[in-house]
Amino acid sequence: MILYKLQCCDEHSFDGWFRDGATYERQARTGQIECPYCGKTEITKAPMAPNIAKGATRSTDDDRPAVGLSTSEARAHQVAKQILEAATKAREYVEENFEDVGDKFADEARAIHYGEREDGGIYGQASETEEKELEEEGVDFVRIPGSNRKNS
Ligand SMILES: [Zn+2]
Repeated sequence: MILYKLQCCDEHSFDGWFRDGATYERQARTGQIECPYCGKTEITKAPMAPNIAKGATRSTDDDRPAVGLSTSEARAHQVAKQILEAATKAREYVEENFEDVGDKFADEARAIHYGEREDGGIYGQASETEEKELEEEGVDFVRIPGSNRKNS
């Protein structure tokens, strides 16, 4: 047996039990299903409410990402992707326009900070220890996500 939510052409809603889907189709087509309110036989299936017990109509899942993330997770995922793309662009810009000093970054950045070197824009790698030292000395630098960093 199968339960269908039905409605007539006057939008009266009612439940109907059928042996199977084909039985419903046949009875609806041949006018054997009558609206209990007005007796009309122009019956269609009402949109199914999957959570009848709660009385809530839920939207379909059709417009959700197929990967099974909730909308907020999907949104966070999207934002993370955008940030990563922006970071990649930033890195590309730096690599095109700045001087690569490799793992001498800490020394070069320090030289710029103390005016011993022209500030032409440099990039390179620094170990965590070197980064900490630079921070303590007040040397300005920016970590670029995704760039190769030498780990000590
Ligand atoms: Zn009716």
